[in-house]
Amino acid sequence: MESYKTFIGGEWVETDETIDVVDKYSKEVIGRVPKASKETVNKAVDAADYAFKSFKEVPAYERSQILERAANLIKERSDELATMITREAGKAWKYSVGEVSRGYETFKFASEEAKRIHGETVPMDASVSGVGRVGYYIRVPMGVIGAITPFNFPLNLVSHKVAPAIASGNTIVLKPASSTPITALLLAKILEDAGLPKGVFNVVIGPGSEVGESLVTNDKVRKITFTGSPKVGDRITRIAGIKRVTLEQGNNSATIIEKDADIDKAIPRCVTSAFANSGQVCISLQRIYVHKDIADEFIDKFSKATEKLKVGNPLENDTDLGPMIDENEAKRAEEWIKEAVDMGAELVTGGTRDGVILKPTVLRNTTKEMRVMCMEVFAPIVSIIEYDSFEEAIQHANDSDYGLQAGVYTNDIKKANYAINNLDVGGVMINDTSIFRVDHMPYGGNKISGIGREGVHFAINEMTNIKMVMFNMN
Ligand code: NDP
Repeated sequence: MESYKTFIGGEWVETDETIDVVDKYSKEVIGRVPKASKETVNKAVDAADYAFKSFKEVPAYERSQILERAANLIKERSDELATMITREAGKAWKYSVGEVSRGYETFKFASEEAKRIHGETVPMDASVSGVGRVGYYIRVPMGVIGAITPFNFPLNLVSHKVAPAIASGNTIVLKPASSTPITALLLAKILEDAGLPKGVFNVVIGPGSEVGESLVTNDKVRKITFTGSPKVGDRITRIAGIKRVTLEQGNNSATIIEKDADIDKAIPRCVTSAFANSGQVCISLQRIYVHKDIADEFIDKFSKATEKLKVGNPLENDTDLGPMIDENEAKRAEEWIKEAVDMGAELVTGGTRDGVILKPTVLRNTTKEMRVMCMEVFAPIVSIIEYDSFEEAIQHANDSDYGLQAGVYTNDIKKANYAINNLDVGGVMINDTSIFRVDHMPYGGNKISGIGREGVHFAINEMTNIKMVMFNMN
């Protein structure tokens, strides 16, 4: 068991209290991290505020070089990072390795984007009062960014906030999830080794209700970028005061399988999309709408493929599903399955729990009142629902408080176009599922799924202010 220090003002520091971090599968304590107090948060914000005065002057090419060095160090330390993600988040090894590659790419994209942050000219003479004037706008960093992240991608979701913030000349105070904070500390070491100036990146660890709220309410923080649940996002918007807030929240993602689709391509992809990281992904496939003519064949093949998944120790190379984040979450998900079955759903496969591990579960004949349908399930549970017409399937997919991403399998271009025009979500994936994401595309949700967009270029837009410049040539 290692005792870690946290990273504030470019120094590795201890605090009066500590938090034990456990391996989510073995339950062994794998690390002890410093717990921040309100004073620690204020110190970290002060350090970031001080660092901003000089970091905003660091030229783009230097910020780009720092990010590139950090990307390369992520790649070099891939094994260490993937092991820590697997142990502290319980993520199956192959997906942890995938997360590290994505973290590398996120930093690499940020190193490129750092060199192309620009505004544009404004045709001033479009207005009578603008004649004889030259106008353009530039993008400038905001200052201290408060970043709050969830447990399920302890490296890449942190990277999605930290890398664009550095690229655009901001400074950061990060509050990672208390259950998975060590990966963030490994990233802090990487950034230190990459030559990031002192105070640009700071980490404060502790419960959201204390440490998170101290960060959100601090007046020196100019922007909060949050990824997590809508309940916490709602609280943040209410207490943040006058600062910009970006929210990346959950979904009860749907994918539609039309009868003209290639279902042998769709099935393996749908299985991975429903069960990767034990369903604890914001765009996990939760509701599959299948045309009634192909429903029996789809469900039969889907459940057979599900039963082949290897469930167990996430450190083994060929494991598909490890534990859920904790036993309470696994019990909560099991309870939701029971409720669905009591309300008339058919349990096709799975449904059993062994401690923190919930078997991948397939339900059919679910209805929209059941929690496995109308709430974000965030567990290895998927519902398969039959439909008659494509238009009806789109309506079902939209019948949700959420609106992050949706998938549509069809080989009919008109149906694809109809889906694109009518799905109320931030991203429509044709011939793929809701789970598709690469790290430079715009990513974010409608309705309670969020406000704003991430994806490095888009996150930079959210982390910069527009400054208008005008020259009077009259
Ligand atoms: P939570 O909303 O519970 O927590 C997210 C973060 O917010 C944690 O760091 C948590 O701290 C902190 N927090 C909790 N309460 C407060 C508060 N009052 N003020 C400030 N911060 C607070 O989410 P989970 O960690 O359980 O993650 C799962 C959720 O994240 C799901 O809804 C999922 O869909 C969503 N998510 C969205 C993604 C997206 O990009 N759209 C991607 C990944 C996940 P602590 O845990 O230490 O108390």
